[in-house]
Amino acid sequence: MSGAQKFVYRFGAGKADGSAEMRELLGGKGANLAEMSNLGLPVPPGFTITTEVCNGYYANGKKMPEGLVDQVDESVRYIGETVGATLGDATNPLLVSVRSGSRASMPGMMDTILNLGLNDETVEGLAIRSGDRRFAYDSYRRFIQMYSNVVLDVKHENFEEILEHYKHQNGYDLDTDITADDWRTLIEQYKAVVQRKLGKPFPQNIEEQLWGAISAVFDSWNNARAIKYRELNHIPESWGTAVNVQAMVFGNRGDTSATGVAFTRNPSTGDGRLYGEFLVNAQGEDVVAGIRTPQNITEVARVEAGSDKPSLETVMPEAFKEFVAICHTLENHYRDMQDIEFTIQEGKLWMLQCRNGKRTTPAALRIAVDMANEGLISREDAISRIEAAQLDQLLHPTIDPKAKRNILTIGLPASPGAASGEIVFSPDDAEKLKALGKSVILVRNETSPEDIHGMHAAAGILTARGGMTSHAAVVARGMGRPCVSGASALRINAELKTVTASGVTLKEGDIITIDGSTGQVIQGEVAMRQPELTGDFAKLMEWADVVRRMKVRTNADTPRDAEQARKFGAEGIGLCRTEHMFFDTDRIMAMREMIVATDTDGRRTALAKILPMQRQDFIELFEIMQGLPVTIRLLDPPLHEFLPHGHTEIVELAQSLDIDPATLRARVNQLTEQNPMLGHRGCRLAITYPEIAEMQAAAIFEAAVEAGKRTGKPVVPEIMVPLIATKKELDIIKDIIVRVANDVQLATATKIDYQVGTMIELPRAALRAGEIAETAEFFSFGTNDLTQTTYGISRDDSGAFLGDYLKAGIYSADPFVSIDTVGVGELVKLASERGRATRDKLKLGICGEHGGDPASIAFCETIGLDYVSCSPFRVPVARLAAAQAAIASKKASNKNLEDR
Ligand code: PEP
Ligand code: MG
Repeated sequence: MSGAQKFVYRFGAGKADGSAEMRELLGGKGANLAEMSNLGLPVPPGFTITTEVCNGYYANGKKMPEGLVDQVDESVRYIGETVGATLGDATNPLLVSVRSGSRASMPGMMDTILNLGLNDETVEGLAIRSGDRRFAYDSYRRFIQMYSNVVLDVKHENFEEILEHYKHQNGYDLDTDITADDWRTLIEQYKAVVQRKLGKPFPQNIEEQLWGAISAVFDSWNNARAIKYRELNHIPESWGTAVNVQAMVFGNRGDTSATGVAFTRNPSTGDGRLYGEFLVNAQGEDVVAGIRTPQNITEVARVEAGSDKPSLETVMPEAFKEFVAICHTLENHYRDMQDIEFTIQEGKLWMLQCRNGKRTTPAALRIAVDMANEGLISREDAISRIEAAQLDQLLHPTIDPKAKRNILTIGLPASPGAASGEIVFSPDDAEKLKALGKSVILVRNETSPEDIHGMHAAAGILTARGGMTSHAAVVARGMGRPCVSGASALRINAELKTVTASGVTLKEGDIITIDGSTGQVIQGEVAMRQPELTGDFAKLMEWADVVRRMKVRTNADTPRDAEQARKFGAEGIGLCRTEHMFFDTDRIMAMREMIVATDTDGRRTALAKILPMQRQDFIELFEIMQGLPVTIRLLDPPLHEFLPHGHTEIVELAQSLDIDPATLRARVNQLTEQNPMLGHRGCRLAITYPEIAEMQAAAIFEAAVEAGKRTGKPVVPEIMVPLIATKKELDIIKDIIVRVANDVQLATATKIDYQVGTMIELPRAALRAGEIAETAEFFSFGTNDLTQTTYGISRDDSGAFLGDYLKAGIYSADPFVSIDTVGVGELVKLASERGRATRDKLKLGICGEHGGDPASIAFCETIGLDYVSCSPFRVPVARLAAAQAAIASKKASNKNLEDR
């Protein structure tokens, strides 16, 4: 094999060709099996076919590369020698599993085949050698069923029908009633189905079986559900999957055998104790499928769950002890919570998989904080471990503890958070109603990977069956959806679209609430409570604030927003959109009056009404912010958002202005723009109507004086001019502001400190930043408009084609969500450099939507902005993301120093 490309990496028996670092090539599962083998843990021997082979397979019209067959043959022999059996041997057959394993975990999305190596001949060998005929025939029929479904496309249902019919005929209730001879009869019937459906027999050649399975796993990389999962989780198609072929171990060899899944800490709460479930005398898929209710691993968990089924700790104490020790080894080695699959075959423990466990956001916080306190990781590691965008989940309401709950039933608290919505029974309906803007709860007996789109669309998921590690629970936790699983009192009739519990029958469209933290299923809607920053969350934020360089401000237009943002730790207001202060129905009239005024007098009359409202708003904002910086932007109303539209609105406004509706309509028509986003807005309004800027400046300065008196802290307003393209625009408006400031200072006999700056939202302004900084004391990047004008795509209309652009890979993300670092970002960088070359202390911030997006925040750190500003609910996300960005840039500069 020397010199040839290495397609296959072996593992098991205390050593491996690969390691955990090689997940790109070996996939997560393959890399971790190698790592566990290197750690000397009991891993059944096997080998991994690399992801490169998968990519080559697709590139070459689904052909395997030359040389692969030899490498696979050699490695199959290696497995056989290690376990003392031979693939295809009639008296001592080796059985293997064939599983997928991509770089990112994609639970249940791709195909798996177990018990490969059985045919009419080897099954007899297995029966004699194991001394357990029933086990041998049961394994063979499972294999036929799985292989036919995955490789030959003969669906499960065909076999299940036969089985059900057979059980019925023979008066059997359970699969365990079926004898060895029954299975043998059923095997013949299973094979006959395959013959009938395909016109050829079920393959008896083991080589053919093996290659059929390997190809099927590669093919499953592109099945519909894997594609959907990749799309939802931003996993590139180019990663490909590896294939793991591994000696089978059996958890279904009687009462001393078992199979289970475990987490080294609780994935739902983050509690530090080992947490998991197992089934005696079962194969791995049985646990995940959620068909039998699993038992707890530890005695403590059993007692807490009130289960009367014995724990692993009690039924298999030796294996349990070894398992606990391995969990410690793995957690210390990976320095992270592990998700583990294991099997016990006749008392002997085998490790089948480990990976960093998926967890809820509260669990992620608790685990990170605990591990830092335990000294397992540093505080900076703890900060970097949390995906900043995930915090969003904690910032959503939970059920108000004081609210009255009409509890229908209680299931398992599978994924925390609460949600109310209309009941739907199918994933397609969930998707449809979501598209109509409805909140829905997906109610199912159990979920499967085919349901993934509906789970994503649903606000919450409720299942009648399945444990805490069932598909529903695992997937919901990963998605951050509240989930109650295993609510076994529910009787679901998917056909009639009804669900019954506690004698109450609800139908599709009825509202229910689920509480994923307690497992409660509640009839109707329930009062929710706003979230707060406490406990582990607050602790992590405290650590993040220590390492963060950039400040985090908020975009707030109302006292309520400002208060919420302060609670979340905002360090000032980065953008107050003054036009948003007029959205209230009682205020919009004054604003409209100003907009439609035909002369200065008319405008001044309207402005005189507006001034006291503005002043009062500003006083409140300044008071709430208690001396923290507050940036107030002069009016920037895209006219189409403020003009009266319909007949009623026009008549109403005409009445209040005491003019003829027809006259008003003519004025509205005159003001209507083809392209309002590029129209008479921003500073252009103040250039044509200076009295607007005058009024606003007066309101701001008068409020600053008043709030300064009330709070005893000087208020230093930052006045920001929107949408400038030239220095001259800013000069003219700054002159107005300075004049008004002087007037107010004189009239109130109070000195006011203030700054005048500008938004950089147009490419021309970015390019001319050097001269603009002669006038501007600060820049705030309005990346919403800057993205719109750099790309030349309308903020209001991009929805029509954005999806196509994302699909075609033209955009890797929506540029209005995550900043286009190389285009729009380049302009921001250039404007920052040019601005600071003129004024070295020039304050720089960002207040477009990107200010709350972690990837964009990382970019802002690299170009040295002073602060980011985002909506109140994203302030914690931004605090964490800014800290992560600071850590990353520190690491990068250390590395640069080392490299020199
Ligand atoms: C911007 O353009 O980025 C901005 C913050 O202003 P607005 O969204 O109000 O246009
Ligand atoms: Mg803007």
